[in-house]
Amino acid sequence: MHRITVIGGGFAGLTAAITAAEAGAKVTVHEAHHTLGGRARTADGPYRTNDGPHALYNGGPHWAWLRRRDLIGPLAPIPPLEAARLRLRHKGALRRTPPFAMLKLLRRGVGPAPVDTDFLTWATGIAGEEGARAAAHYCAVALFHHDPGSLSAAFVQERLRRAAKLPPEAHYPRGGWGGVVDRMAALAWNLGVRMETLSRVDTLPTDTPVIVATSLDAARRLLDDPPLTWPSGRTTLVDLAVRTRRGDAFAVSDLDAPGWIERFTAQDRTLAPAGEQLIQGQIPLAPHESKADGTARAEHLLDLGFPGWRERLTWRREAVANGRTGAVDLPGTTWRDRPAVDRGDGVYLAGDQVASPGLLSEVSFNSALTAVSLALGRHELDLKRA
Ligand SMILES: Cc1cc2nc3c(=O)[nH]c(=O)nc-3n(C[C@H](O)[C@H](O)[C@H](O)COP(=O)(O)OP(=O)(O)OC[C@H]3O[C@@H](n4cnc5c(N)ncnc54)[C@H](O)[C@@H]3O)c2cc1C
Repeated sequence: MHRITVIGGGFAGLTAAITAAEAGAKVTVHEAHHTLGGRARTADGPYRTNDGPHALYNGGPHWAWLRRRDLIGPLAPIPPLEAARLRLRHKGALRRTPPFAMLKLLRRGVGPAPVDTDFLTWATGIAGEEGARAAAHYCAVALFHHDPGSLSAAFVQERLRRAAKLPPEAHYPRGGWGGVVDRMAALAWNLGVRMETLSRVDTLPTDTPVIVATSLDAARRLLDDPPLTWPSGRTTLVDLAVRTRRGDAFAVSDLDAPGWIERFTAQDRTLAPAGEQLIQGQIPLAPHESKADGTARAEHLLDLGFPGWRERLTWRREAVANGRTGAVDLPGTTWRDRPAVDRGDGVYLAGDQVASPGLLSEVSFNSALTAVSLALGRHELDLKRA
């Protein structure tokens, strides 16, 4: 029987553990934190915030895999009346519909964008500069970068198409991703996976193949491998609760600068106490900007979409997520150029900044499957089909 050690019990580590155990391996997971889930943890309450993911995109490979194993659980659909309250800030004012020029980029006839050109240059040729900038900023919801227009056109186009798809790809597990993590942990347990929490690994084991399913920063330290880097986003996260008021926006997408604010209780009332709404925003920061700059921009969007929010405030917290929002690809690079999964000597990387395709956590998922297939010496497709 194969033995495999997985370091990190987040979405990548749990995916790897389940996949390896299903293939018959004897798996041990080491997780530094006292609970599993990593960035996919959900706070206990009363305000059930997520550190990282909210949306589970049904166009991704993880959707079918989770569903087949009955791990998604109940979903919180957005009521149509709430969905109609999506607002877009454009030229300083809120509007209901995207600028016409931006929509040109979503037409069927638009071919695949080039890898080597930046998105703003490519998109300006189709939609003009104003439409191109609006589209780039809209994509911030799925790439968390302060200047999406400067990234590879092919990379941003994929995010634009998926973030703007109708009906929407984004689905919300009721109660947050914490429920998905709990179900994954229970399945892993039933498959005989040994899971050790409060178990930070400082030295790689040499007696089994190892899947390092940590953030890329932690993997770089653990493997003592300085070149293990790849660009990601830096973003202010603003979480707040306000007393309910009819007519609040469902979400505000900033088309004048990257930024997104969403009222998650619109689709899931379980996330905050009765009579209150949980709102979470992310405002990407340029290298020279501070958390306070992001907070100020978030407050401006709140003023527009949630009138009177300051007087209705019941809870608030802010943080900066640095390098925690997944890989971004600069012009001339694709996911294939990111740090390879196979590090040699039986060590494999899984996570959202390594060489695997997909959106956000899908990269963690895909790399986990690749890491297991390499560790077990099987053909990758055998596992993906399972
Ligand atoms: C603000 C924000 C919003 C996001 N929104 C979405 C979204 O809507 N949809 C989506 O799909 N994705 C989203 N993401 C991305 C998603 O959160 C991540 O891609 C995914 O959670 C990463 O999972 P992971 O297992 O690769 O890494 P992590 O979740 O970081 O897990 C790594 C684990 O390794 C552990 N660890 C680290 N070092 C060690 C060590 N030495 N020994 C043992 N354990 C160790 C850590 O404690 C952690 O639990 C978002 C991220 C952020 C920050």
